[in-house]
Amino acid sequence: MSFNDLGLSAELLRAVSDQGYRIPTPIQAKAIPIILQGRDVLAGAQTGTGKTAGFTLPLLHRLSGKKPADNCRPVRALVLTPTRELAAQVAESVVTYGKHLPLKSGVIFGGVNINPQISMLRRGVDILIATPGRLLDHVNQRTLDLSQVEILVLDEADRMLDMGFIHDIRKVLALLPKRRQNLLFSATFSDEIKRLADGLLDAPVLIEVARRNTASEQVAQTVHLVDKGRKRELLSYLIGGGNWQQVLVFTRTKHGANRLADQLTEDGLRAAAIHGNKSQGARTKALADFKKGSVRVLVATDIAARGLDIDQLPHVVNFELPNVPEDYVHRIGRTGRAGNEGEAISLVCVDEHKLLRDIERVLKREVPRGNIKGFEPDLSIRPEPIQNGRRSGSGGRPGATTGARRPGKPQHARSTGNRNGGNAAGDRRRSTGAKPTQGAPRPRRVASR
Ligand code: AMP
Repeated sequence: MSFNDLGLSAELLRAVSDQGYRIPTPIQAKAIPIILQGRDVLAGAQTGTGKTAGFTLPLLHRLSGKKPADNCRPVRALVLTPTRELAAQVAESVVTYGKHLPLKSGVIFGGVNINPQISMLRRGVDILIATPGRLLDHVNQRTLDLSQVEILVLDEADRMLDMGFIHDIRKVLALLPKRRQNLLFSATFSDEIKRLADGLLDAPVLIEVARRNTASEQVAQTVHLVDKGRKRELLSYLIGGGNWQQVLVFTRTKHGANRLADQLTEDGLRAAAIHGNKSQGARTKALADFKKGSVRVLVATDIAARGLDIDQLPHVVNFELPNVPEDYVHRIGRTGRAGNEGEAISLVCVDEHKLLRDIERVLKREVPRGNIKGFEPDLSIRPEPIQNGRRSGSGGRPGATTGARRPGKPQHARSTGNRNGGNAAGDRRRSTGAKPTQGAPRPRRVASR
């Protein structure tokens, strides 16, 4: 099957070919012809499957069929996403695939000045990509009219529900015309998603592509059993020893992400944290620095990382296992994308054995155990309960040291770290892990992701 067989216009085929895509991915091959027919779609597809082009290309095709009046450009397609990053990425895709078409698009999300968005909406856009909260702010300020929307896309709908956007979504739905095409994309199909789909979609075509946990052969997964207090040291060792130049690391909490990024920076690794408490500017900068290689380790929480499209990400590390097994699948979906091989490593301490078992149940297989000499877990350590994802994890028990606890501890391989001639200063500091872990204050409130 080639893109030429899908019924897309010459302008879109040219944009696709400009991107270097030759063969449609399974979700594209299935979804594009159906969406072109104007049908509603319920699609089970995760990030990394090519789903964005799967809905963007036919959406652009349908909108370009009718020439908008010059003096009035109502929003005719609305794409809702859970996070700002995903909104920005979808918007980028719309621009990329629509570059040979006379359509205008815009993106709105919170955390940034609303005024430029108001000006953009006043000038008029055909396609609007938005996060729900800021979208409703505009509606309330009467700077946005949704009465002409012809196509609605809910991207990563499961994540929107996880993030508590259901009421916002329902408010948005009430503002849309009754007759419209609806496309719902979700990685998982919980009862809540099914309820949302039932109320929203009209005789939908169900499209499912292989979940990444069945199609993840190109991701080599390994579990390293290690003491909680030595995880950071092992992480630095893996990054340095493997000369990894780009690694995405997951923690469960924002607090944990900040602290780990600080600690890795102390270890001489260029690291940044990305999570919901960071300003939009800081998140965008961290991601841009990571993409261009000036940040080597990006430490992220699940929600912040959701939908990040970083091409050919070679390494993902679960510094802490997620509470929800499906999040593990999302996390490792960041690597081994679009045919590239990737590696996903999980650092698992004794507290997390149950979480690991749950994940392996979802995967329907055991994740191979790795063995790094000198980092074997201390079997005398008893598990501690993980409370609502707020466990500190990165620093270990207060007062514990992160290094020199037993013979045979591998040397931190900092000298291998910067062969590419990057920021040598960033890697100059030697991390022996011998200094005591900081007092690891526990967050007092339940940390959100
Ligand atoms: P998505 O699942 O939409 O986040 O897309 C994942 C990645 O696959 C993005 O980097 C796209 O640029 C890329 N991609 C999408 N469609 C294709 C295709 N047909 N061939 C190769 N790469 C693609």
